Amino acid sequence: MTPSHRTPSSTVIVVGGGVGGVATALALGRQGRAVTLLEQADQIGAIGYGVQLGPNVLPMLQQLGLAEAALAKAYLPTDITWYDLNTAQSLAHIPLQTEAFAARYAGSRYLAIHRVDLHELLLAACERLPNIQLNQSTTVTGYQQNDAGVQVSLEGGATLDACAVVVADGLRSRLRAQMHPSDTPQDTGYVAHRTIVPMTDAPEWARQRTGVTMWSGPGFHVIYYPLRARSELNIVVVNRMPPGLADDVAGYRAHMDRIMDGAQPEPRKVIARVNLDRRWTIADRQPLRRWAEGRVTLLGDSAHATLQSLAQGAGMAIEDAVTLATLLERNGDDYAVAFQKLQRARFLRTARVQLESRALWETYHCEDVHAEVRAWEWGARGPEDFYRCLDWLWQPVSVADLT
Ligand SMILES: Cc1cc2nc3c(=O)[nH]c(=O)nc-3n(C[C@H](O)[C@H](O)[C@H](O)COP(=O)(O)OP(=O)(O)OC[C@H]3O[C@@H](n4cnc5c(N)ncnc54)[C@H](O)[C@@H]3O)c2cc1C
Repeated sequence: MTPSHRTPSSTVIVVGGGVGGVATALALGRQGRAVTLLEQADQIGAIGYGVQLGPNVLPMLQQLGLAEAALAKAYLPTDITWYDLNTAQSLAHIPLQTEAFAARYAGSRYLAIHRVDLHELLLAACERLPNIQLNQSTTVTGYQQNDAGVQVSLEGGATLDACAVVVADGLRSRLRAQMHPSDTPQDTGYVAHRTIVPMTDAPEWARQRTGVTMWSGPGFHVIYYPLRARSELNIVVVNRMPPGLADDVAGYRAHMDRIMDGAQPEPRKVIARVNLDRRWTIADRQPLRRWAEGRVTLLGDSAHATLQSLAQGAGMAIEDAVTLATLLERNGDDYAVAFQKLQRARFLRTARVQLESRALWETYHCEDVHAEVRAWEWGARGPEDFYRCLDWLWQPVSVADLT
């Protein structure tokens, strides 16, 4: 496509400046399209924690021209290791830097990257393209469309016209609520606490770890991994919020102390570094078949928000963006057709991520006989078994076959 002039009839509006929105702006902008990104916050940026990207994601970043830059910013974990919080039994060990891994995943890599670094890479690439306009402090309240195009309404009463709209406004998407009024996020009853500490302040055992380490117990898990050339340690603590304790700071701390009493020393010391007063509610979405309505489509978390058990929400958003750009190119810039094809191409894969993440969530947090069966079943698995289970997800998707 040749670079287009910025007229409403040729401009694509992207709603939301998270990973999904910025990756979409870049993917479409690289094709020469006029793109306007609208972000409600006063800065287009990321919440400053780590993110893991499976080997399916690097080839997508390659399509966006960012693979080398991402590799330069990322830390490459040696393995994923999961232990029982109370017994220290190893439940999974997945090597990420072996020849077997490289052969299986076409030489791709497993990355751990600071979200700010990932966001800055995407954003800087957008800023280099004059056909991408990035607007902050702009909240979209709704859309209307006819055969000629789409109009989005902004807080404050203004409107903007576009030839198509990509909605990437996240888990609690306002525009998904317009498209599917009875559909709401599904709260899990769990909360997450996140922190990054300088590696020099990390507990000794954690400092020696070179991979992604997870410990889980009943209703609880903690995961940590290095970032930025091992100069920082990213820590996420996830906990089932007991009834009545959401607003009871002392009661919640006492509850965490009880969990820690039975925990192994390493995770106990790591968790002691986390500020338990700051937390995020964990929710996901039911798989949704219809993402597109005419010249409007959902994308990223607004289409398929998932629990983080497989660490793939951002990865799926990046895959969506590259898939969409490919489909537009192959469908003569017919947005309505490309959007229909996007949901067809992406629905089952993203639904499987959502459903398997929920199943894994239960496995992470189970107790009693379920935990004993888990130890028996998972303890018997070797790296090949884990690769086989993850092949459907980790093997790069091919956009070459899209029509
Ligand atoms: C604890 C935790 C750990 C995670 N770990 C991983 C991981 O390791 N790997 C991974 O791949 N994924 C992970 N994820 C998931 C990942 O963070 C999300 O899937 C990803 O950020 C989704 O990107 P998005 O752009 O679709 O949505 P978001 O990042 O939510 O971005 C939406 C954007 O839209 C803006 N917006 C919202 N409403 C409006 C509006 N009306 N008008 C204008 N702008 C609006 C918001 O301000 C925001 O900037 C994790 C999630 C959590 C909670």
